[in-house]
Order: sequence, then C-alpha cells, then structure tokens
Amino acid sequence: MEENSLLHFLDDTPSSHYRKTCDGYASQNDGDDHSDSSDPANARERLEHLLNQPANKFCADCGTPDPKWAALPFGAFICIKCSGTHRSLGVHISKVISVNLDEWTDEEVNCLANSGGNATVNTRYEAFLPENYKKARQDFATEERASFIRKKYELQQFVTDPQFSCPLRKPGADKHHNQQHAGSRHGTFRNSWRKKDPDHKIVKKMMDVAMVEFVGLIKVDIIRGTNLAVRDVMSSDPYVMIILGHQSMKTKVIKSTLNPIWNERLMLSIPHPVPPLKLQVFDKDTFSSDDRMGEAEVDIQPLISAAREYQNSIITESAQICTFLASENSILAKDSVISIVDGKVEQEIVLRLQNVEHGELEIKLECVPLSQ
Ligand SMILES: [Zn+2]
Repeated sequence: MEENSLLHFLDDTPSSHYRKTCDGYASQNDGDDHSDSSDPANARERLEHLLNQPANKFCADCGTPDPKWAALPFGAFICIKCSGTHRSLGVHISKVISVNLDEWTDEEVNCLANSGGNATVNTRYEAFLPENYKKARQDFATEERASFIRKKYELQQFVTDPQFSCPLRKPGADKHHNQQHAGSRHGTFRNSWRKKDPDHKIVKKMMDVAMVEFVGLIKVDIIRGTNLAVRDVMSSDPYVMIILGHQSMKTKVIKSTLNPIWNERLMLSIPHPVPPLKLQVFDKDTFSSDDRMGEAEVDIQPLISAAREYQNSIITESAQICTFLASENSILAKDSVISIVDGKVEQEIVLRLQNVEHGELEIKLECVPLSQ
C-alpha cells in the first residue's frame, strides 16, 4: 500500500519544498562531523543519541516534559499541544512526525539527526528573543501558543537581531509588527508591501487555520471503486479527493476504468470540532474541468470515540466494536464494522456514491488519537 506524505494543508504540495528545506538545513550543519549522514544505521544511532539528550526531554516551544513529536525540517522535539499548531502551519513549513507512531524515512531520520535537537534549534530560532518576551509555556492557551510558534518558525522573528533586520525581509504576516512601525520611517515600506502583497489571503487563511486544535490523525485507505459512472466516451479516468475541514488530499488518477483499484493511503489531521469526512470522485479531464462522478460523507465521530476508548487497550486478538447496518436507502452498500485489529481501531466502509447514476467506493479508516 502506498503511503502518501503525512499531511496536506491548503492544497500545498509539500514534498519538494520540504525536501529542499530539509537538505538545506542539513547542509548548514556541514561543519559538523556528519559526512556519513546517508548511512541509515548511523542516522538511527544519532537519532537515539538525540532522543537521550537532556534538552530533548522537554518541548522546544513550551517546556512540557517528555515530548513525543518532532517538527521537521527544524528538528525540534515538541509536545502534543504544540504539535497541533505546527500542523496548522502546513507541511511546507513544519512537518510533524510522531516519535513513536510513524514510520520514519531515512531522509527524515537524517534531517532530525543533523538538526542538533532542541538545544540547537532554540539557539538558532530564539537567538534574539527579546528579554521581556513571553515564550510559550505549558499552560498557554491555544491562541498564545500559536502566536509564539508562528513567530518563531514561520516568520522567524527571533533569528536575527531586530536592529539589523530589514522590514521587508519577511513581509510581516504579522500585523502587530507592522502596526509598531506605522508612522515611523518604515511606514512607506509597509504601505507599498500591503498593496503588492499577493500572499495576503493565504496568510489570512493560515492565521484562521492556526487557531484550530487537533484531536488525532485519520488514515484513509482508498481501496477501490466499483461500477463507476461513464464520463468520457466509453469509460472514465477516476480519482478521489478527500476533504476534512480545511484540509484536502487526492489519490492518483487511474486511466480508462470504471472499476479502479487505488490501494492508496492518505492521512489528515482531525480538527476539533470534528467535521464529516467528505469523499468526492472525479473524472480527470485534460482540456476541461474535471467531471463529478459522485460523492459521499462519512461521520467519523464513532470511529474517534472507539479509538479513544481502546487506545490503551491490551486486547491482542481482533474484535468487533460496533456495526452499522446497510439498507436499501442508506449510504452504506454493505454493513460497516468498527473493529480493533493488532491494537489499531479501524472501520471498513463500502459507500454508495451520491448525486450520480451509480458507483461504489470501498475505503478503510484508521484513527490515531493524539495523546501519545
Ligand atoms: Zn509544547
């Protein structure tokens, strides 16, 4: 089964940018003895070494003990609450990986191992933190925490001495910063930036998203489509888009078939309050907009509740937790079962696609609550 990159916000395509940043950051550390950083065994050893360093036993952003998440490409170990804010910045800025849960690629291990951990990250990203500035603390509200993390990593406000920094260098998605300089010698710069800023809407959207709290991750396996509708002459080129709150992801396109097999895993963060998971099937058209081939909505709340209830369960054999019955008019084409398999809480669903002549979509969901 193909595993897509972890998270996908605001329709960004993170992988190339992420890789560049990750490589770039690693190369900044070339002065250190990392000449063999391509050796995976060696990278894991260095990762273990990093995990045992005292600075990495506390969240890099708020100081909460025993952080279980890592933010790449920075290489910071962070707590669950800060991980929510990092996720909301989008993977093109910060990719959050669970130290325990996720399968790490060699590239990610290398990136983290080369980062130097929390001590190095904070030396760099908090180098010019003003003395009286309130760094995030464990008891900070989501909003204050989000504001600090955005300034630290996205705007990188504390990397350089403010006395020497150029007011145009980071077209301050930060209003406060601009207001501070209103009427001062920087005022003209600020106004000219405002008129030209093409990213203003994106930044605004990000600020909205940054306030979202996340309660878990959902893995969505798009398995297959059956008897889908014809949208080209004889067949269709179907793909599936999944949407959860502000996030969306797509599968690959499978050419000329009404019974596509994707076997593709997509992963999204689960925001709070939990929205329904929307699935839309499209026919890919090269010269016109893509045609709709039906859609479906899934309430993922029962799966999340089951995952929370069973997250510390010691059940080792598979067991059924609950069943949703299919009927002639329901969206379920077959009974759907939430079950626990190898300690994972999963739900298999065959959906009858809506607003289309015919077609079914088979998916499997797995929920990982954020408490690790
Ligand atoms: Zn934290």
